[in-house]
Amino acid sequence: MCGIFAVYSQDDNEVARQIFFALMALQHRGQEAAGIAISTGVNINYKKDSGMVNQIFRERHLAELPGRFGIGHTRYSTTINKTGGRQPYQFACKLGPFAIAHNGEISNYRKTKQKLLDEGVCFFTETDTELLAHYITRSNKDTWEETLAELIREVPGAYSLVILTNNEIWALRDPLGNRLMSIGRKNDDWYIASESCCFNVIGAKNVGSVKPGSVVKIGVDGYTERSVLQYPRATCAFEYVYFARPDSQIDDVYVNEVRQRIGVELWDMTRDRFAEGEYIVSGVPESATPMAIGFANASGIRYNEIFAKNRYIHRTFIKPVDTERKSAVYLKFNPLVNNIKGQRIILIDDSIVRGNTIEHLVAVIKRAGAKEIHILVGSPEIHYPCYMGIDMRGGDEFIMNRCTPDELAQLVGADSVTFLEIERLAPAIGKSELCTACWTGSYPKELEW
Ligand code: SF4
Repeated sequence: MCGIFAVYSQDDNEVARQIFFALMALQHRGQEAAGIAISTGVNINYKKDSGMVNQIFRERHLAELPGRFGIGHTRYSTTINKTGGRQPYQFACKLGPFAIAHNGEISNYRKTKQKLLDEGVCFFTETDTELLAHYITRSNKDTWEETLAELIREVPGAYSLVILTNNEIWALRDPLGNRLMSIGRKNDDWYIASESCCFNVIGAKNVGSVKPGSVVKIGVDGYTERSVLQYPRATCAFEYVYFARPDSQIDDVYVNEVRQRIGVELWDMTRDRFAEGEYIVSGVPESATPMAIGFANASGIRYNEIFAKNRYIHRTFIKPVDTERKSAVYLKFNPLVNNIKGQRIILIDDSIVRGNTIEHLVAVIKRAGAKEIHILVGSPEIHYPCYMGIDMRGGDEFIMNRCTPDELAQLVGADSVTFLEIERLAPAIGKSELCTACWTGSYPKELEW
């Protein structure tokens, strides 16, 4: 998971600033590094570094990046591409210099890379982004549009990709529609982003999503989109459950509403158990908060906050090293003891991957004096790896490959653990063409590993 952003603006003093604010809004998609590339029309200039967006960019950096076209990136590495530096990358092909930034993972990365190595291509990083850049530099097509259409035909997934040339922005969404790509507009200025939540921040409106398998061009002539190839759609369902911000729309569906509907489904599954007795319901901040609100609205069970969240500690799932994840959990949540003591608590979490967070939370709630703790999980049990850009490799990493829900309850000290039934997920999202492979093991058949 990474965040990408692209802009064409008529005001060349605003582009770097707009990218900076958009990357701040996309910070949840990656915290390891960030970068901006802006074209002056003659040269492409870069500023990128390791760290959070507001640690990297100062006012003077933005002032040193004039231009009307630009792209930006927040980086989160998957297991396969832990190394490889910061994006956007700088390349050149027969069509000229270009900068490239990417979200996703090429499912057959190793095989494809070996093929290119055999053809004499040199690699400087272990990233999918470099692989995609080499596809472009090797192409003998005479236009950007044909070059990128060829890439879409050769690489099924999973990617959303933005490319900056001297005078244009190009964007590609994989033919499965697995990765996300929203379109924003403000008068004659156009934007592309991983998530629509960043458009409000810069005064733009979300005007839709790029269709899977399409090549987009943004330039002085406005926005054009050409559909090249579409496979049966397989948009990542985990984006709706956890990754995306609640104020984003994914393919015209509000994420916040999906999470509330998941809460309603959880109530429908458990109404026999919780109908009687005094409970309060709460959500693990922040992805599960709308689920808890949905559950409370449907059930009439009182919603209450039970954690004060430290706003300056960011998401635990995407910290790259397991020890960092654990300490981040401890720093992040503090119990509201007066809301917990003596209560029977229904705690909703969006997902359980490794089990670190939930184990700590249950211990914290118990120490604060809860009478009972029932964990509801707003997604099914994770059993299978992701090969499409989310850092979940499988095996023993997944706690639910080592125990049943009852055993997990015992392990973490809860009274019960209940996962969302898989058949309830698509109705809650309101779409059926989804990738649910990490729960079901059923991968898009167009992909190979
Ligand atoms: S396997 Fe899971 S995390 Fe990966 S793309 Fe599919 S739904 Fe998303």
